[in-house]
Amino acid sequence: MCVLCDEAITNPICLDCLQRSMEQWALEIKPGIVEDIKMKSFIFKAYDHEGTTCVVCGNNINICAHCFCKDIYEWLLDRHPETAESFLVSFNYEIRSLCRF
Ligand SMILES: [Zn+2]
Ligand SMILES: [Zn+2]
Repeated sequence: MCVLCDEAITNPICLDCLQRSMEQWALEIKPGIVEDIKMKSFIFKAYDHEGTTCVVCGNNINICAHCFCKDIYEWLLDRHPETAESFLVSFNYEIRSLCRF
């Protein structure tokens, strides 16, 4: 279960794995926001408890991809709107299938 939205975590991918692909995306489009993404991910990781296991790396997960992607997307819309569309396109797979936007 996700500690933020109380939904069962399906297609579990941990914040570390999501963060890694977001950082790669940010490096190409706007390197200045990489540190912000790290910081946001760090804050999310503070919700620490035993959860599901990441299908990619085996880490514990307690926040679903939906909540993390949504937070980053809304923050981009607010602070860096010019990058929000690219985020949607780049994370189309995660957002449509994992994040259920
Ligand atoms: Zn959630
Ligand atoms: Zn992982």
